[in-house]
Amino acid sequence: MLLNDTIYQKNKLFNVICILGGTFNPIHHGHLRLSIELYERLNLESVLLIPSAHPPHRAQPSVSSQRRLEMVQVAIAGVEGLSVDDRELRRQGPSYMIDTLKSLREDYPRNPLCLILGMDAFLGLPSWHEWKQLLTYAHFLIVRRPDTLLPEKNIMQDFFKAHQAASKEDLKKQIAGMIWMEEIPALNISATYIRRLIAVGKNPHYLLPPAVLDIINSHLMYR
Ligand code: ATP
Repeated sequence: MLLNDTIYQKNKLFNVICILGGTFNPIHHGHLRLSIELYERLNLESVLLIPSAHPPHRAQPSVSSQRRLEMVQVAIAGVEGLSVDDRELRRQGPSYMIDTLKSLREDYPRNPLCLILGMDAFLGLPSWHEWKQLLTYAHFLIVRRPDTLLPEKNIMQDFFKAHQAASKEDLKKQIAGMIWMEEIPALNISATYIRRLIAVGKNPHYLLPPAVLDIINSHLMYR
């Protein structure tokens, strides 16, 4: 799908910016490795990590959005290519991705934007607010683990095929509207696992940056 000529300016586009939304409760090495892999493989301008203030699809996190933001800030401090964006904390109401993409598009009118989605998130898209509009504002970058495939006979299979980019280079040629699937080596780490370890007094060291663990310990979080 090519957007109309007013916004499709092939020769005037800036570099691609990827967006990783999440609760980051807490941020861990799974998020960070994913971000760096994509930054380097796709020669990105940056990966924006965007903590969700009021996630619409899950219970409100036990830890405040300000504290989750702070953990992301210390985790990426000094890391080339990764930045944190607090726009969802500055909005009231549910943190809908469509609103986030609209405001990013205003800030970055000439950068292709790529929304990073795990395969699970991609398959669950139909439950997202105004999900079909998301591609108007960004590409989708589906990250899948080596052993996970897009299920056949799933309604998202047709959607994927209808918007599939021929190569990842195509993501640089227009600002939104295409889907690319990238296979990345997975670190089997989740925030849920880290919270559970801490809750039972076990040591989550090496699953997340030491500076994040310092914040968790100093505020006695997840006990
Ligand atoms: P929780 O266990 O609380 O659900 P989580 O570890 O999945 O949290 P989120 O903040 O919900 O972390 O995830 C944000 C994004 O990062 C999601 O798109 C998720 O698929 C992705 N992600 C989380 N963990 C990993 C991982 N280990 N490797 C690759 N991507 C990950």
